[in-house]
Amino acid sequence: MKAVYITEHGGPEVLQYGDQPEPSIGPNDVKVRVRAAALNRLDVYTRAGVRGTRRKFDGNAHIMGGDSAGEVVEVGSEVSQRKVGDRVVVNPRMTCGQCHPCLAGQEEFCPSAGMLGSSRSGSYAEFVGVPATSTVLLPDSLSYEQAASMPTVFLPSWNILVRRGELKPWETALILSASSGVGTAAIQVAKNVVGAKVITTTSTEEKVEKARQLGADEVINYKEEDIADRVKEITGGRGVDVVLDHVGADFWPAATRSLAMGGRYGICGVTSGYRAELQMGIMFTRYQTVFGVFMGRKEDMRQIIDLAGRGVVKGVIHQTFPLEDAAKAHEVMEGLNFFGKLVLTME
Ligand SMILES: [Zn+2]
Repeated sequence: MKAVYITEHGGPEVLQYGDQPEPSIGPNDVKVRVRAAALNRLDVYTRAGVRGTRRKFDGNAHIMGGDSAGEVVEVGSEVSQRKVGDRVVVNPRMTCGQCHPCLAGQEEFCPSAGMLGSSRSGSYAEFVGVPATSTVLLPDSLSYEQAASMPTVFLPSWNILVRRGELKPWETALILSASSGVGTAAIQVAKNVVGAKVITTTSTEEKVEKARQLGADEVINYKEEDIADRVKEITGGRGVDVVLDHVGADFWPAATRSLAMGGRYGICGVTSGYRAELQMGIMFTRYQTVFGVFMGRKEDMRQIIDLAGRGVVKGVIHQTFPLEDAAKAHEVMEGLNFFGKLVLTME
């Protein structure tokens, strides 16, 4: 089968397009003919071998890619809930299904969890083999490109805003960086699912307009305005109830200063850096919470796809590329000039 893989770490040029063996599946797995695979920041890290993704190749090729969607072409002997021809999206966070957290429905805490495309062979390929429990059936109304663009940006957004942060319709959320995949997902979850007031940040007037079209009530251009000052103005001095931060160190000082009494600060990424200074005095006197999430639960994924099928939320796709142009897509991702997701498509 055709696939995009690496045999060494490096820049976009180490991505190779060529033939690789088709995956064979176990009794609890399904084989999916991949129709679309979306890029995430983790893909760039995995390619470069940074942030804990460095691997020993020993002459073996590693197929990249996590988020993906396609149709089931083969089912393992123990699989009863999927059949050949099913349209599915793949949740790239693979859990064991047998440990205590997994059995308790808290599979996000599974100690042996891994990610498709980083800890195991991925989905930049014509076929991928995954546990049947890692797939969610797609409603007819949802395209493969749309579905593939959702898991890794919607799961943490849902986890922070809906489940852990318990954002309420009468509250205000600050979503950092509107233009990233997570930003575009989180604005919609906060606005369309919860019904909260949404403040977001971005860097150009064009992106400000796009963020407003997605549903943001207030957009702060951080190149021109101070985030904390503007948040204070917008909220009448009170601050925001929930911050969704996937940017990390660069915006931490301004974003923590923007948090209201009783505020919840959720972190799901540290693109700009992972060390920050915590003002402990403010945290305890203002009853604030800081928490981290990586992905989410299978049930979160099912609910997100259900809402996407009904048009409540959607994947915001900046550009699609044919699979063989994966290196071009990685180059775009390493620039800052995009709004939403970059998706690879297969014939
Ligand atoms: Zn487990």
